[in-house]
Amino acid sequence: MLNFSDLKKLNVKYQSEINEAIKKVAESGWYILGREVEAFEEEFAEYCGVKHCIGVGNGLEALSLIIKGYEFKESDEVIVPANTYIASILAVSTSGLTPVFVEPDINTYNIDPEKIEEKITEKTKIIMAVHLYGQAAKMDKINEIAKKHNLKVIEDTAQAHGAVFEGKRAGNLSDAAGFSFYPTKNLGALGDGGAITTNDDELARKVRILRNYGSKIKYVNLLKGTNSRLDEVQAAILRVKLKYLDEDNQRRRKIARYYLENITNEKIILPQIKDESPHVWHLFVIRTEKRDELQEYLKNNGIQTLVHYPIPPHKQEAYKEYNHLTLPITEKIHREVLSIPISPVMEDWQVKKVVEIINSYDR
Ligand SMILES: *Cc1c(COP(=O)(O)O)cnc(C)c1O
Repeated sequence: MLNFSDLKKLNVKYQSEINEAIKKVAESGWYILGREVEAFEEEFAEYCGVKHCIGVGNGLEALSLIIKGYEFKESDEVIVPANTYIASILAVSTSGLTPVFVEPDINTYNIDPEKIEEKITEKTKIIMAVHLYGQAAKMDKINEIAKKHNLKVIEDTAQAHGAVFEGKRAGNLSDAAGFSFYPTKNLGALGDGGAITTNDDELARKVRILRNYGSKIKYVNLLKGTNSRLDEVQAAILRVKLKYLDEDNQRRRKIARYYLENITNEKIILPQIKDESPHVWHLFVIRTEKRDELQEYLKNNGIQTLVHYPIPPHKQEAYKEYNHLTLPITEKIHREVLSIPISPVMEDWQVKKVVEIINSYDR
């Protein structure tokens, strides 16, 4: 069986460096917000091309701390892509604001900028863009709309470490971005982790305080903060893996190119890309009307696939208040998408096998 991902194989590549990094933290005697977090923040800010990086507990917290940092009112609204992982939406609702769903472009799966303006009201304060599957959203259009209406733009960069849009890296394409370092992400820790990147000095100051009980000086609390700090051990591991991120993304691109050129089954819709180089292929997502049948066929032929995602946020039981909404493009995508294996540690023969089996599907 070819598993969808092989995290063990992924990290074994860096085993000795990772062991060294863990040992260094263990022996330092400093385990919370120490030298490793600080160094990683500097290195990742430089990688993204931004002034500030603030390490936090996970991707969801990264996004919700940005929203909290802006201190908008409870009734304010955030434009969100309807087609995304639930965390994007939870970041808004757990911060007390209201998500307003916008349909995606059926070809890129990212938020359709043409449909944003009709959803803007006097309560709208933020537009959230998600670079879904590793391809940057149309940030030029989104930033233009935001400027016109005086809104903040935030990026959910959880699937887009290293992705580029018009020469700039994801994380540097808006007012602030939230990264996740969940183990399966393009830059993954050996546990939970996240970060905020921004060029906004004031926001950076606030989220730095918010992640640590709202305090800069111990026992002096300026804001009602939370406890969401990037772990020192994870930061040390991330510093090792950051060095190889571009190389890993390059391998993903090579596999993606092979898939794009060699999957010829007419029943299958391949991902569309504007200019492939900036895409970092967190996921390679194909679409077909009989998705479940294709998934079963691939499984019977030894290939594990996943669905990202089976139920859209507005149809989740957790969001009963939005269940009445009809968002046909989002719902169609959720019925038809299937993620096939793509990972920097896949062997060429495995990539070929995936193509052969997909091309042999004829139901
Ligand atoms: C993974 C992910 C998140 C959440 O990250 P965690 O670190 O798991 O909290 C948010 N948004 C998207 C699009 C993601 O893929």
